[in-house]
Amino acid sequence: MSLADDLYRDIILEHYKNPRNQGRIENPTLTSQGANPFCGDELELTLTIDKNTIREIKFHGKGCSISQASASMMTEALNGKTVPYAEDLAHRFKAAMLENAPMKMPEEMSDLESLDGVKKYPVRIKCAILSWNTLLEGLSAHYKGQGQASHVEGEEGQRPDLTHLLGEKEAEMAKQVPAPEKPESIPSGTPKEQVDAALKTVIDPELNLNIFDLGLVYGTDIQDGLVKVTYTLTSPGCPLGPVIKGQIQSALIKLPWVKEVHNELVWTPPWDPKTMASDEVKTELGIW
Ligand code: ZN
Repeated sequence: MSLADDLYRDIILEHYKNPRNQGRIENPTLTSQGANPFCGDELELTLTIDKNTIREIKFHGKGCSISQASASMMTEALNGKTVPYAEDLAHRFKAAMLENAPMKMPEEMSDLESLDGVKKYPVRIKCAILSWNTLLEGLSAHYKGQGQASHVEGEEGQRPDLTHLLGEKEAEMAKQVPAPEKPESIPSGTPKEQVDAALKTVIDPELNLNIFDLGLVYGTDIQDGLVKVTYTLTSPGCPLGPVIKGQIQSALIKLPWVKEVHNELVWTPPWDPKTMASDEVKTELGIW
């Protein structure tokens, strides 16, 4: 992981842990709801607009760290700005996320540039632009005389075949995400210790932390050359599922005595970093 990636992750996690302008405005000028079914992100924006200026903007939502951090950064960048400025910034941000050019944002909103690192993971781009699309939808409804709007990622214009799209993007992503690095030497210890060490090389690309210390591995069962892994993901519908599954497979099959790997993805109990993650990871995520 490069220094820039480290810095980006820190900025994103900082906004995720300490979101700016979170909540709902009472009697807002406009309300706009957004959803990203690819990842399960949900968002509601409330704005007070007066004389073409955003007097106040708040967000309320749940979902992955990228979607929530992006919403936090957006509200911070737009408080007190004019509507045309907000629209312009939204279009610039989206263009930067969807193109390969490095992002360059006005200095006082340089936090937004941290989302540039998300471009390495194409399906996460939808998480990063959800709040901006929800804002644009809301502003357009407002100027048509409506107080409410909604936006669903992937439903712009004609509704695409989501399953097909997701499959294609996952395949694309699986190629881009590097396989876990080969351990320098053959791991030592009991088979169980070797399996645990191998699982620590599997990184959740969203959080950049390994799945073992995140507490995503619920159990391992070793019978001669067969290893069964029961695991979960940070959020249901996480588009990184197939990538992580592939990484578990390739990390374990590298152990000389492993002949077969069975992965089972489960959703109960739901992952809770407060009780399941290691102390190091909790410190990293700011959970005590
Ligand atoms: Zn997301």
